[in-house]
Amino acid sequence: MKLEDSIQYIKGIGPKKAAELNRLGIRNIYDLLIWFPRTYEDQSVLTPIASLQAGETAVVAGTILNLSEHRGGRRNMHILTAMIGDGTGFLQVTWFNQPYLKQQLKPGKRVFLSGKPSYAYGGRGQFAMNQIQSCHVLDEEEEPADSCGIQPVYSTTGHLNQKFFRKVMSGLLQMAIPLPNLLSEPMRKRLGLMERSKAFRAVHFPETMEELRAARRCLAFDELYLIQCGLILLRQQTQREKKGIRHLMNGRLVRQIIDTLPFQLTQDQQKAWRDVQQDMEQERPMRRLIQGDVGSGKTVIAMLALAKTVENGCQGALMAPTEILASQHYELLAARLAPLGMRVGLLSGRLTPKKREEVYRAITCHDLDIVVGTHALIQDAVQFARLGLVVTDEQHRFGIHQRAELEKRGSRMPDVLVMTATPIPRTMTLTVYGDLDVSLIRELPPGRKPVRTFLRRPDRRALIYRYVREQIWAGRQAYVVCPRIEQSEASPISSAEEVYDELRCGIFQGIPCGLLHGRMKAAEKEAVMRDFYQNRIKLLVSTTVIEVGVNVPNASIMVVEQAERFGLAQLHQLRGRIGRGPYASYCILISEMKTEASQARLHIMESTADGFELAEEDLKLRGPGQFFGSMQHGLPDLRIADVLNDLDILLQARQAAMENIRNQQLGTAREMLRMQYGRQFLHIIES
Ligand code: ADP
Ligand code: MG
Repeated sequence: MKLEDSIQYIKGIGPKKAAELNRLGIRNIYDLLIWFPRTYEDQSVLTPIASLQAGETAVVAGTILNLSEHRGGRRNMHILTAMIGDGTGFLQVTWFNQPYLKQQLKPGKRVFLSGKPSYAYGGRGQFAMNQIQSCHVLDEEEEPADSCGIQPVYSTTGHLNQKFFRKVMSGLLQMAIPLPNLLSEPMRKRLGLMERSKAFRAVHFPETMEELRAARRCLAFDELYLIQCGLILLRQQTQREKKGIRHLMNGRLVRQIIDTLPFQLTQDQQKAWRDVQQDMEQERPMRRLIQGDVGSGKTVIAMLALAKTVENGCQGALMAPTEILASQHYELLAARLAPLGMRVGLLSGRLTPKKREEVYRAITCHDLDIVVGTHALIQDAVQFARLGLVVTDEQHRFGIHQRAELEKRGSRMPDVLVMTATPIPRTMTLTVYGDLDVSLIRELPPGRKPVRTFLRRPDRRALIYRYVREQIWAGRQAYVVCPRIEQSEASPISSAEEVYDELRCGIFQGIPCGLLHGRMKAAEKEAVMRDFYQNRIKLLVSTTVIEVGVNVPNASIMVVEQAERFGLAQLHQLRGRIGRGPYASYCILISEMKTEASQARLHIMESTADGFELAEEDLKLRGPGQFFGSMQHGLPDLRIADVLNDLDILLQARQAAMENIRNQQLGTAREMLRMQYGRQFLHIIES
């Protein structure tokens, strides 16, 4: 049997079981092998029923004394109750809505049970259990010894029980199906990793906890190694296949811009600019990510890079995630670069079809040197005469896929510069952006006043808004951010519309207020944003649509309603909208702080302004699923590695991947990539 073979070939799996497994995404033998246990239970440590502690998970072995079923509860559930005895006491076990279990749970049978017991009504020394982690019924012929030791517990569904999984897995592992070795023997030894086939056996059926740890480490390594191979190959391929543009040393335009900047570049900016410059001067296409907190000055670097491509006779494109941001970038570039003779254009969604055609033509005829637009710029059928550089802002919304898309166009590969203000933890930079080089801008330009953040309860709202009003009287502008747009009966969450009406007709009467949310038409949003930008609106009530990039230096105060509804990284991003000018800035987070956890979480906002630190805290608190989910990442699904805690393994894996690719000792990595991540790395596999 081979790893690609359908699970139907496995003994004990018929069409029905196969269909159930398919629903879990398990199609072939390899899928099944990497269906790693969700957790384990140590059956070598049995607890006598008499010694159970309410609320503490334990493993119990006993005999089923009787079994009864009935219907009850609010939803008229099927309820199955068994009394289990082990000679020291009785345990009443209840299963809800699992009628099929009664086939196995026959009185007289011996069972292994793990779960969380509670005290039973009345009876002293009697326990009940309805939080069952696993239940294993011993076969007649089965020696109890077979079930001792550490047992795997699998995620499962419907009719597939733990016993089924354990049986199929152990059968599968005994068949000794050849597993492609990802690493050479010497390398595996050097890294202290256990043999792959042994690791698979040990992860499903560990003899000791120690062995389990070693197996997990090995498999996590392999998983991360494979992803790194994929990302590095992806990048090599595009760089090898297509020649890039070799830009010349800095010329007149770049020097003029640097000379006329009203400030000195910070150390980090200089370093980033050196990186970009060196990449651009090489023939292989640049693939660089500039990561820097909001306001750290990434745009200047983009501007220099654009000027550099223009003085080399090429065109540059700058892509922004929203129309508002695109026009802001456009205004900045036009103001700075047009006086030096560069022709800057904006490809906006608001243009009439005729104007749009004109811009297209200007791009194709090279009547424009730099074009700013939304991402449609690259997705549309825009034909550049000579595209030398593509800069994308806030590209974290775009995964590996989109980068590949860009790379399929044109014969000479343009250089690509990606800018992101999203503080992405290091582990994620290496996994999601493993195909990019990274320049980090950590220091903020000098003289920047940090935003002061305060956490307050709702009973202070009146006071807070009175303070906001004073700031507006003093000439500043303010943001009020709400978690949702409209009020709904189902939830008492403050909506932007509600807060807007309340403030506009109340304490801010006579002061121009605006409302901005994601459900407004693009043109409406833009009109409001423009009014705020041009200081015609003083107080802007909005949802998180203002999260990305808009620059209004005069806005120095932000109030966030129901702050507990937002992630830390998101709050940080929001907070980045203020403190962009010379004024002292304040961010006030309003929250009831019902739980200590939410209070502790929001306190972190008060205590640090470091986006990276916040992102890591956020990741720890909310877990990778939610954190990454909100970012629409392109991260491959991790089965066993843990993005948070396996950074050391990740770094080793990346090192090993680079070494093996360099020495052309990839072995079976391509094959395995195809099998495990087919769609995500389509690009490599197709070649
Ligand atoms: P980012 O794009 O990283 O959010 P910007 O490039 O928009 O940041 O810069 C934010 C503000 O800081 C701009 O007004 C910019 O002119 C200014 N700035 C950038 N670099 C410096 C510097 N080295 N010294 C002083 N001000 C700077
Ligand atoms: Mg920016």
